[in-house]
Amino acid sequence: MAKPVANILSTEALSPDARRRLETVGRIRVLDPRDEEELCEAVGEAEALLVRTKTRVTRRVIESAPKLKVIGRGGSGLDNIDVPAAWERGVTVVYTPEASTDAVADLTVGLMIAVLRGIALADAGVRGGRFDEARAACVGPELRGLTLGIVGMGRIGRAVSSRCHFGFRMAIVYNDILEVEPLPFPAQSHSKEALFERADVISVHVPLTDETRGMIDGRVLAGFKPRAVLINTARGEVVDSVALAEALSEGRLGGAALDVFDAEPLPANHPLLSAPNTLLTPHIGARTPESLARMDSVVDDVIAVLKGRTARFPAR
Ligand code: NAD
Repeated sequence: MAKPVANILSTEALSPDARRRLETVGRIRVLDPRDEEELCEAVGEAEALLVRTKTRVTRRVIESAPKLKVIGRGGSGLDNIDVPAAWERGVTVVYTPEASTDAVADLTVGLMIAVLRGIALADAGVRGGRFDEARAACVGPELRGLTLGIVGMGRIGRAVSSRCHFGFRMAIVYNDILEVEPLPFPAQSHSKEALFERADVISVHVPLTDETRGMIDGRVLAGFKPRAVLINTARGEVVDSVALAEALSEGRLGGAALDVFDAEPLPANHPLLSAPNTLLTPHIGARTPESLARMDSVVDDVIAVLKGRTARFPAR
């Protein structure tokens, strides 16, 4: 039998199982590139390139890899990959759109309750010897009776809505640019303006695109219901983070929880760090063992493309 020959570059460590599967088709090199330059040099001979969130696969990277057949993105956002540039060169892009839906939906609900009930403040109060003050300050609403506004009723938007309707009896309103297939819970479609005016909690679940970049800016934040809470577990660039910090500091919003940022890591002096009732997590939405294992399944689609077979989840 012919030896596996494909030249495979991965910019993140692979699990032992994913590595074993990939080794049936090729030789694997793992390299965490410092910058685009180093990735361009490293990708020269690669037929397959595997990345997760932090590596940007630019047009220059793709054009530096004349033998590239497939880019595998373990994860669901494709904003770090120049997909049109890949297609122009005949490179297939595969990803794992369903891998982290439950993980991100769980975190979103956790953040929602944590912000509304001041859980981080309460914890800091107990540890800081301010038990009574923290107790007095932490009075927040129950979810039942609140209206949840979902921006982007895709996989994660639906999973969050389902938890919030069946688990907490929240009213759901949503906005999407595409027609949404029938939902298994009651939910009203609204324009963005109407959703922002009405929702007590706004949760963002759109991909990062030219249209969604900067979508929630200062003008849009001014149209939010007074004291509304914003949750963003989608992509940082969707929200103008400086305008958000301002709205929080001026008390126009009741709080925010953000798992994603326009700059990651968040710079040390960023105004969000001192904004009131703001919960910040370091892009952990997909970080459950179950979701990470499902993201590994991207190697099966990479193998399929290398063998000339049809991939299960090609970017479209
Ligand atoms: P999805 O493609 O299933 O759903 C996205 C929805 O947004 C679609 O219904 C789409 O029509 C809608 N949409 C697109 N542009 C819109 C706009 N301008 N206005 C309103 N709606 C719009 O994607 P998903 O699986 O639900 O994931 C959503 C995003 O979550 C991903 O693109 C990714 O950026 C992010 N994500 C974050 C983490 C994390 O670790 N925090 C993990 C996974 C995914």
